[in-house]
Amino acid sequence: MSEAPDRRPLGILGGTFDPVHYGHLRLAEEAHDALGLERILWLPASRPPHRETPAVSSGHRLELVRLAIAGNPAFALDDAEARSASQSYTVDSLTRLRAVHGAKKPLLLLLGADAFAGLCGWHRWRELFALAHLAVATRPGYALDPGSLPPPLADELRKRLRTDAGDLERSSAGSIVSFAITALDISATRIREMLASGGSVRYLLPDSVLDYIAEHRLYR
Ligand code: ATP
Repeated sequence: MSEAPDRRPLGILGGTFDPVHYGHLRLAEEAHDALGLERILWLPASRPPHRETPAVSSGHRLELVRLAIAGNPAFALDDAEARSASQSYTVDSLTRLRAVHGAKKPLLLLLGADAFAGLCGWHRWRELFALAHLAVATRPGYALDPGSLPPPLADELRKRLRTDAGDLERSSAGSIVSFAITALDISATRIREMLASGGSVRYLLPDSVLDYIAEHRLYR
């Protein structure tokens, strides 16, 4: 007899991870708990479209994420974007993952509230809703406010917002949920600045990541 399919959503966390830090790790960990995810695929981008070229190569950023997530059985690395020479578009990655996991598997794209607010600028952004659910991490006490978003995104939010994370298992894509996470005001930009000026970034990211950065003299 074949086993019943696992209906828990597969979380997907894309980013530049330049470098990966505890803000990313807590986002993934708290999403896993709060939303009942099967596991989380970490998807480092090669050349992200909306921003400057990353400070270090995708090969190094992949290694940093590999080290950061080591030992957590709920986290896995998806290296397809980082290994590709072309620009990374989330819509293409979700199309690929949809083909791998089938039409029925709930896929869930994880985003910080800052990334969500800029969603209208993403390549073919409206197609994302046909491919995955979206989960937006907010600070505790702050709800997602359509009034602070560009009108087309606010419309999508009003249509798609669900308050029960259990809904995510009932369809494979198309809903938006928000969940509160421990606020950690850590950014990769600030970490790069501190490293460039010779400052300490200890306790902002895992020691294994720190050791790799030091060994390869990254961000100097
Ligand atoms: P940068 O400072 O270079 O823009 P970043 O630290 O924001 O980088 P990204 O790789 O751009 O990191 O982010 C990947 C995802 O992680 C995005 O959805 C972003 O919103 C989220 N994220 C980043 N930092 C945090 C944080 N401190 N807490 C919660 N989510 C975060």
